[in-house]
Amino acid sequence: MSQKIMAINSGSSSLKFQLFSMPEEELLVKCLFERIGLGQGLTFTYTYQGVKEKMAIAGNTHADAVAYLLDFLLAKEIVADLKEIVAVGHRVAHGGETFQSASLIEEAELQQIEALSPLAPLHNPVNAMGIKAFQKALPHCRQVAVFDTSFHQTMAAKNYIYPIPYKYYEEDGIRRYGFHGTSHAYVAQEAAKHLNKDLADLKIITCHLGNGASLCGIANGESVITSMGFTPLAGLMMGTRCGDIDPSILPFLQKNKGLSSEDIDRMINHESGLLGVSEISSDFRDVMEGDVSQYDGNPELAVDIFTTKVKQTIGSYAAELGGLDVLIFTAGLGENSYEIRRDSCQGLEFLGLEIDPEKNFTNQLIISTENSKIPVMVVPTNEELMIVRDTFEILGA
Ligand code: ADP
Repeated sequence: MSQKIMAINSGSSSLKFQLFSMPEEELLVKCLFERIGLGQGLTFTYTYQGVKEKMAIAGNTHADAVAYLLDFLLAKEIVADLKEIVAVGHRVAHGGETFQSASLIEEAELQQIEALSPLAPLHNPVNAMGIKAFQKALPHCRQVAVFDTSFHQTMAAKNYIYPIPYKYYEEDGIRRYGFHGTSHAYVAQEAAKHLNKDLADLKIITCHLGNGASLCGIANGESVITSMGFTPLAGLMMGTRCGDIDPSILPFLQKNKGLSSEDIDRMINHESGLLGVSEISSDFRDVMEGDVSQYDGNPELAVDIFTTKVKQTIGSYAAELGGLDVLIFTAGLGENSYEIRRDSCQGLEFLGLEIDPEKNFTNQLIISTENSKIPVMVVPTNEELMIVRDTFEILGA
């Protein structure tokens, strides 16, 4: 018998919701609440039976959004009774070393998620708030947390310990955690399915290239190495984040420019990356397709740094995995930008990888040539479906 399961992604000012019927993975309805906490009412957008509508509604908190959502499901007769919803799967940013996989949430787990807040101060507290709002509104439902970090808990210590005094790992939990785990795991599974291969037999590199961007090297279906680190700032250059840089630049600027630690934090998280180098925008479309002649920035250089970094990381992960069977692109840029994919692969021909320009231009599922030793794929990510799959699996267990 089918079961209805929700996927929830709560941010500080938004709440995203999807309802699926499982196991057939049918998406029933998709909703988005925005402007939470601003004290000016909420905006509510839903997509149901092919119709998309956006409206202003009353309310200010996550709990207000949840209450509205449940009324909406009943009013639209998407469910006849809220008891039809058996579980809610929540995206939670940080599971630290506590959560090696998705987990059923009872009181103890909720406290553990809150205790991990120092590692993700912008995300874990709001994720916990979302869980509490649903616990209260749907007491009959089981709540499950799916963590951005847990997929990467399979990394070996050599790939997660930083070469700084070991006591900072032991005392403060400073290590590489990695993020986007749900997305990397999902596209790897989907690719194996499409290729009719066993995931366990494949060495895969997944490139999640969106506003936030990370790569993951996967073997045996497990994360071996990933580019984000202690925080989602590390690794590739991103829309506004600098990615990996020489760490001594920061104390140097602090001293010589008189910057505070808040100034530095803002600079590396919000003023760097594509925005910082191009001096135009943090959005690749603005930089690559817009009329940039009116600016004196460095749009070409910025994009060049980005794709060079992606290519270098692919090369180093192929070395770490000892080979490569599949290369996957996903997320906003990975799914839509043939130029970013083309330039990120340029120079990787020595691996036996060959892009078909026509297939690449039209965003085909497989964009490599028939002769390419390594299939290169474009697999749309779907973190909500992965959350619901994990939740469904936990209910079964
Ligand atoms: P996030 O979820 O991390 O906010 P997305 O995965 O939505 O980010 O990716 C956003 C990036 O993808 C932006 O830089 C945007 O310009 C780029 N992007 C989205 N759609 C397209 C497209 N059709 N062509 C080129 N770039 C695109």
